[in-house]
Amino acid sequence: MQHINFSKNKTKTILSKNIFFNYLVFFILIYISLSSFIYAKVNIVVSYGYIESIVKEIGKDKVDVFSISSSRYQDPHYVVPKPSYVVKLSKADLLIINGASLEIGFIPVLIKQANNPKINPGNIGYLELSNYFDLIDKPKLLSRDLGDIHPEGNPHFYLDPYNIIPIANIIYLKLSEIDKTNQSFYEKNFENFKQNFSTKLSEWDKKMENFKGVKVFQYHSLYDYFLRRYGIELVANLEPKPGIPPTPKYIENLLEIAKNEKVFFILQDYYHKDNYSKYISSKTNLKILYLPHDDQNIYKLFDEIVNAFYNSKN
Ligand SMILES: [Zn+2]
Repeated sequence: MQHINFSKNKTKTILSKNIFFNYLVFFILIYISLSSFIYAKVNIVVSYGYIESIVKEIGKDKVDVFSISSSRYQDPHYVVPKPSYVVKLSKADLLIINGASLEIGFIPVLIKQANNPKINPGNIGYLELSNYFDLIDKPKLLSRDLGDIHPEGNPHFYLDPYNIIPIANIIYLKLSEIDKTNQSFYEKNFENFKQNFSTKLSEWDKKMENFKGVKVFQYHSLYDYFLRRYGIELVANLEPKPGIPPTPKYIENLLEIAKNEKVFFILQDYYHKDNYSKYISSKTNLKILYLPHDDQNIYKLFDEIVNAFYNSKN
């Protein structure tokens, strides 16, 4: 009898150990799935460094951001699509692009290959910033004929620093829509960003106030919004049309204009060759200002542009 009792107790112990183990596994699995749900970051792909910077300001540790292009040496109109970008897009919850055809050479093909319905145009995970802005220089005919790479108007609207807080606002609202549980977190970050960026706007306004009426050339129509903001007069682009390099005859004409109009500066980006700017400068003594068009730090982007002007006086 004693032996039987012993056996029964042993069986009972093994059974309860099994039940305990099963419960443990069950709770661990629940914990893992809940925590991955609660702590999962929003996967975001953006086209340019400036968007990445703003997304990080608003999303902080709740988002993972990958920028397709972020270098000042990369032509924003012509980015080569890579398989690694397709992989990133296939896992994305959100795609944010500049829009107005700036990415037409690479984003549509990447979206197609990624085969991720979430980020298709018109769906919740697709955000095109240009839809919220009035673009300047809209051509009368919508066409990319004759090489015009701005068929919907000038897409470089984000280079007006006063458009950055509105962009941050749009991104804050989109993040709150996609990730509702963290809405108050995004809102708080947006309010902080708004305050910090406004302080910088005042600093930049002050540094730029002596440039009203100053006449400039620029290589490509990158800085039109910036120049308009600070009352700087754009006399001509070195490109006769966006995306079309100048002919020798066109350059000779610019030399005449430079003398007659008293042009001060040539604004030169980092991704076009500066040989035309240098030639004009050598013939006219115009100063070349090298300016970035993109950066993974939105403050640094405008600090560099503004300081290039500000330091040119010294
Ligand atoms: Zn352009």
